[in-house]
This record gives sequence, C-alpha cells and structure tokens, in this order.
Amino acid sequence: MSSPAAAAARSRLVEDLVGSRYVQDPRVREAFLRVPRELFVPEPSRRDAYVDVPLPIGWGQTISAPSMIAIMLEEATVRSGERVLEVGSGSGYHAALLSCLAGPANVVTIERIPDLAARARQNLAQAGFEAVEVVVGDGSLGHPSRAPYDIILATAGAPRIPEPWAAQLAPAGRIVAPVGPRLHEQILLVARRRPDGTLEVREGTPCAFVPLVGAKAWPKPD
Ligand code: SAH
Repeated sequence: MSSPAAAAARSRLVEDLVGSRYVQDPRVREAFLRVPRELFVPEPSRRDAYVDVPLPIGWGQTISAPSMIAIMLEEATVRSGERVLEVGSGSGYHAALLSCLAGPANVVTIERIPDLAARARQNLAQAGFEAVEVVVGDGSLGHPSRAPYDIILATAGAPRIPEPWAAQLAPAGRIVAPVGPRLHEQILLVARRRPDGTLEVREGTPCAFVPLVGAKAWPKPD
C-alpha cells in the first residue's frame, strides 16, 4: 500500500472510530492519525492494517483491533508527561500510540518473547518512535527500574492484577488490564491507586486477549 493510500485508509478508520464513539478524546484521535499501523503489521496482513480487526504478528500473538485499543486509551486518560509502562509490546503499535499521548521518553514497554521485542524496536524506529524503550522480560513482575508509573497498561490477559503492578504505581496511578479466565474471556479492569496503596477497581468492557505468561500470571504453555 502506497503511503498516501495508507494515510487515506488511516483517516477513514479514525473517522469511523470517532463516529462509533470508540474514540472521543481529540488527543486519542490525533494519536491514531499519527501512527502508521501498516508499519507494525507484517505481510501478508498488511493490506488489512486499516480494517478494525485483530491481526497476527507472529509467534502466536496478535495486535488488537483498533477499536479495542481505542477503548483502552480512552480508559487510561494518558496526559502529557505521565510515565507509562505497557506490558506486552507485541508489534510496538500500542506503545507508539501511548508515546503520542505521554511523550516518547515517558513510555517503556516490556515483552517476554525476545524476537518480538526486537521486531517491536525495529517497527518503532521505522515509524519514528525510537525514544520508546522496549525491554525483554516478564512484565507480570512490572519493570521496577523505571517505576513508579502513572499508568500500567497490559495487552495480555492475567488471572488477576499482579501485585507488583500496584506496588509500582505512583499516587493516583492507573492500571488498565484485561483480567479473567485463560480462554479469551476477560473483562477490562480499570484500577486506580488510593492514597493508602490499595486499588479501587472498576469493570469495563468484556474482551479477548492472549494470555499474560509469567511468574505472577499464567504458567508457560507447553
Ligand atoms: N500491544 C501489542 C499487542 C500485544 S499481544 C501491539 O500493539 O502489537 C500481547 C503480547 O504480550 C505478546 O507479544 C506476548 O508475547 C506478550 N506477553 C505475554 N506475557 C507477557 C509477560 N509476562 N511479559 C511481557 N510480555 C508478555
């Protein structure tokens, strides 16, 4: 897909997301318009980069549908200058959107599959988001070296919110994460840290994410 065609397809998708009210915040709309999703989607799915569906990104993982990403970004209400940890880098696309909202140096994303992390790094660089840090590791443990975070956003589903995430939140920090039974039956939880360190949790939309595999999540599949 040529670049002007991609830009046109991108803007059509974004207007659809606005029309269906998945996107309400003008800053989220701006972010979707800025990030070229086609650069994060491998062949042969690239021609579907601007269809509102999840797409395979290799290693058995998927990039979420744009409408699902929009729901998460709207729930997270990311402000400029906030520190963000994304758990589950995958293609790097969601991290690029987060960096438009928070500022590129404020976003770190963690991925357990080293080859995918390398791909995410490459995609982010190609799209001009090289300031986003991609680390390899078990994000169910958070990423203590850059804590505290104003936002921890997970794009893989855990059985419950891992305790290290709450511990790594700044005062009034938020967690947006799919939680529920393994087989793609989760609820998007939106949690906020109270002054006493406990979480106030609200249930958002039902959703279907790949499992979060780690010490504080699901055991390794084999
Ligand atoms: N946000 C991604 C989509 C991620 S798919 C994007 O925009 O493309 C979920 C990702 O979570 C997969 O790449 C999977 O390998 C990763 N993952 C699963 N368990 C993890 C863990 N414990 N720590 C870090 N990443 C994990």
